[in-house]
Amino acid sequence: MTKSPRTRPAPWRVALTFDVEHGDRPAHPDGTRHVLETLTEREAVGTMFVQGRWAQANPSLAEDLAARGHLIGNHSHHHAPMSWLSPKAFKQDVQLAERAIRRATGHDPRPWFRCPFGDGSEDPAIRSALDRLGYQETSWHVDPFDWRGKATGPSVARLIIEQATAHGDGAVVLLHPWTKATGRALPLVIDGLRAAGARFVRMDELA
Ligand SMILES: [Zn+2]
Repeated sequence: MTKSPRTRPAPWRVALTFDVEHGDRPAHPDGTRHVLETLTEREAVGTMFVQGRWAQANPSLAEDLAARGHLIGNHSHHHAPMSWLSPKAFKQDVQLAERAIRRATGHDPRPWFRCPFGDGSEDPAIRSALDRLGYQETSWHVDPFDWRGKATGPSVARLIIEQATAHGDGAVVLLHPWTKATGRALPLVIDGLRAAGARFVRMDELA
């Protein structure tokens, strides 16, 4: 049999990851719920890095993240740059978040951790402090800067589709569900990447 140029591309994996947190810029009030509904409608799964303080403030939405099958990770409690914290405050922050996330979602977020702002994510001292607490830092390959004022749904979607396709199998995409642009971009991202042969996986399926 000869290969036709119309053969479907081999499936490749993309991990959509969301920092679920208190927005520090103008936020879409129902952004996180809207993102969850889009993922469910389009039968896509993702990984949710949950801020502990956010989980305390939004327990039913936090429970819903896990109930819909998304993987739960830890995004710190206070969302401070981790390199600013003393060793004691570092441990307290990570464990406060862990307890708040477990209480709200019913899931242990270990070993998935993402440093706020990516601060310290390359720092061996921070990585080993996380390791002692049972975590591994989870970085990303694709950052569409969806929180920027100028970001629009189509501009964010275009960046993600281009960069994830360029990266290929195993691309990890960083998103913020509380921004206006992400809610608008997500349907375009899911449909566009699927058309390019991608399938969506959680971080634990990439390991
Ligand atoms: Zn964050």
